[in-house]
Amino acid sequence: MQVPSFSLKKQLSEIGPELNSAILKVIESGHYIGGLEVEKFEKSFAENISVNHAIGCNSGTDALILALRALNIGYGDEVITPSFSFFATAEAISNVGARPVFVDVDPNNYLLDLNLIKEAITSSTKAILPVHLFGYPVNMDKVLVLAKENNLRVIEDCAQAVGSTWGGKPVGSIGDLGCFSFFPTKNLGASGDGGAVTTNDSELAVRVRELAVHGMPKRYFHTDLGYNSRLDAIQAAVLNVKLPFLFRWINKRKKIAQRYQVLLRDLPNLELPLDTREDENIHSWNQFVIRVRSSPTNNTKIYENNLSLDLKKIYEELPNSYSRDCLKKNLLSNGINTIIYYPIPIHLQPAYKKLNYKYTTLKNTEILCSEVLSLPIFPELSEKEQDYVVNTIIQSI
Ligand SMILES: *Cc1c(COP(=O)(O)O)cnc(C)c1O
Repeated sequence: MQVPSFSLKKQLSEIGPELNSAILKVIESGHYIGGLEVEKFEKSFAENISVNHAIGCNSGTDALILALRALNIGYGDEVITPSFSFFATAEAISNVGARPVFVDVDPNNYLLDLNLIKEAITSSTKAILPVHLFGYPVNMDKVLVLAKENNLRVIEDCAQAVGSTWGGKPVGSIGDLGCFSFFPTKNLGASGDGGAVTTNDSELAVRVRELAVHGMPKRYFHTDLGYNSRLDAIQAAVLNVKLPFLFRWINKRKKIAQRYQVLLRDLPNLELPLDTREDENIHSWNQFVIRVRSSPTNNTKIYENNLSLDLKKIYEELPNSYSRDCLKKNLLSNGINTIIYYPIPIHLQPAYKKLNYKYTTLKNTEILCSEVLSLPIFPELSEKEQDYVVNTIIQSI
């Protein structure tokens, strides 16, 4: 049996014809930039996230850049964020001229360790940028208290967490700004790139909207150096078809996650992700990430020894010494695709190594990168496929 780590193909039997006619309608309308589909999507997305404003843009990465720029974060400023995330989180901070200050993650939930934030704050710190990684919501109550006490702004990276909630509120509605991605593998995936910024602050919303269109409040009148970052009308039309299915799809993800939790429990060396707690928080399960505990190798040392090598070499040399990589290989040879989110922490990527920043220890981040493995999870994954994944894991561990 072949099991992909992710697939949008099966979705087509449900919404294929609708997608077809929605896309054709945009093409026939001649309205490719902006227009009704984009307006409709921004309005319904804002409703879903319980915010006053949602502004479509070209990608999740751009959403982060626009949010940072809207808060006037730039040269000389510092932004606190995790190194255990997709590269774009830190890249956006660096690309507006600011500096990411990496704080280690909590080994229990893999999210920014909020107990370490205070000591990372300096007079240059402008914002906290937590990531709701894999769909698991960050404790936003704590983030807001820290931000208030230290006069910091909060940008939520919700790229993997559309549909997650903290304290009854959708992520992206809690900080100053929320940043979403509609990259195809996210819970709400377009048929290409797309993103959105959410906020309750009308001034910030205007700022984001202007920055996304060349810093242009009026036609051909530019008050800022902005970007060309719009949500395409065709992508908006695709998202308008998909949005009504979002919570149904997330419920399917939840069922799959709960099944994995039951079927994989109590296996030696295998740590399962935290489930949503008894309280009202919702995990939207963009990924189901297990942790394969390695024998006590010094992961950090191995990374450090390899820093001057190119990435390919790192990939070639790191695997096999880890039980995680053995498991991954074994699953692959049985037709099961898994993905490692993320094999190398951001601060150890060559792009950041060469900046020579000093970091506090990011040990949990480094160890996690060598032990995590994302199992197949998508709404259409069948029980039969899941059982096959589970049984193959049980046999290989
Ligand atoms: C996907 C992702 C992004 C970037 O989104 P794009 O739409 O691919 O630009 C940013 N942050 C995180 C955590 C992501 O997973």
